[in-house]
Amino acid sequence: MEDNRIKEELRKIPQVDHLMESERTKALTLEWGRVLVLKALKDVISLIKEEIIEKGLSDVTEDKIILSLEKKLRDIDLMKLKKVVNATGIVLHTNLGRAPLPKSAVDLVAEVAGSYNNLEYDLIKGERGKRQLYVENLFKELTGAEDCMVVNNNAAAVLLCLQAFSKGKEVLVSRGELVEIGGSFRIPDVIRQSGCELLEVGTTNKTKLTDYKKNISQNTGILLKVHTSNYTIKGFTETVSMGELSRLAKEKNLLLMEDLGSGSLYDFSQIKDTNEHTVKDSLKSGADLITFSGDKLLGGPQAGVILGKKELISVLKSHPLARVLRCDKMTIAALQAVVEIYAGNGDIKKEMPVLSMIFQDEEELSKKQEKLMTGLLEDVGDIFQISHRMGKAEAGGGSLPGVTIDSPCVLLVPNRGKAHSWQEALRKEKVPVIVPINEDGLMFHVRTLSYEDIDLIIEEIKNVRSEEKGEVKG
Ligand SMILES: *Cc1c(COP(=O)(O)O)cnc(C)c1O
Repeated sequence: MEDNRIKEELRKIPQVDHLMESERTKALTLEWGRVLVLKALKDVISLIKEEIIEKGLSDVTEDKIILSLEKKLRDIDLMKLKKVVNATGIVLHTNLGRAPLPKSAVDLVAEVAGSYNNLEYDLIKGERGKRQLYVENLFKELTGAEDCMVVNNNAAAVLLCLQAFSKGKEVLVSRGELVEIGGSFRIPDVIRQSGCELLEVGTTNKTKLTDYKKNISQNTGILLKVHTSNYTIKGFTETVSMGELSRLAKEKNLLLMEDLGSGSLYDFSQIKDTNEHTVKDSLKSGADLITFSGDKLLGGPQAGVILGKKELISVLKSHPLARVLRCDKMTIAALQAVVEIYAGNGDIKKEMPVLSMIFQDEEELSKKQEKLMTGLLEDVGDIFQISHRMGKAEAGGGSLPGVTIDSPCVLLVPNRGKAHSWQEALRKEKVPVIVPINEDGLMFHVRTLSYEDIDLIIEEIKNVRSEEKGEVKG
């Protein structure tokens, strides 16, 4: 388009003030608030201007602008943090918030957050007290650790330990354990960020005790073992056990630290092929310091738990970074309720949602599968082929790598239209449903679904259908 025509088209766009005064925009403002509507409107208009200039878009009407505005607002709504239904079968889904908390934790968070509390007040003495002392004491009792410190997440825990005890020195790590967790957590980067130098020992598949030995020098700060949280190395392999490393560390007067990633207070060894050991095991085999996440297999809130020798933890607690990395009261509340479940008399496998999903019995799973299947057949059986399937569920979130659990699913193949359109429509429903695609259909894993989730799924599939989202109907 020539310059004059472009100018002409740009001039046709109504003023923002004028648009904000229109009846339809006013209605939107009532629903969404003026701030959001104005921002969305400005975004929509600059996009339209771009399209006029670059793609020759013409004849932009007020009506078109308002339609784009409505769509923009719906997109903004999808950016809000909200509950979603997880039909992926991945129990600890990092994108979906990892561990759903037990009810007692949710209740305590609400209570503590909505009122004053004794976060840093000692009710026995009536004076200033320490936050999280109770939680840390329970962790000590449950694990046999000399002392405990809780920080914001495991990445923070690792960073703090390395910085406090190895700054300016070398950290020895096996080449096979230079983990990337996803996002931006890479062990080599964290080591550098802590002011330490990474010294890789051994090879990717084999690391021997002598590899550590021959790299130890005056400049060595810490021997670090990292749990290979999201992969397994199979075949011609060799790793050095914590026991062996501990003997070496003692002999050389060095610190031994283990980043457990997904530390667990529950014994997962009953699951076949697992490389997950408990926090207790790690301490028993001689680690001076261990760190793990609160929201992986432990099943709690985002937090990093550090356990280890008393004199070391006390150095950490007085480190300047401790304040930077400390947890919020809501985290401490949630963690307290979770640790109390592990310390209590109840059935941990039932009370902790993460464990109950992983260890769900077949009868329960079949019941859910049946409920979903029956509901769907009744309501939308005419537009889908609906069948039972066996899928593979995973613990996920950097835990139990390589372990899949056979898991009942319901497969929904649309008679017309594409599974992808249904997947998108369900993702954009009021309570978004996240479901993977398999064999050209939607594969609902019931392991990660509650009974209420199943009702919701049925309801929302009916909604999508009645909204006649063109594509979906095919
Ligand atoms: C998950 C993981 C981390 C990071 O833990 P966050 O709690 O997510 O910060 C660090 N190290 C290992 C080995 C992990 O598996």
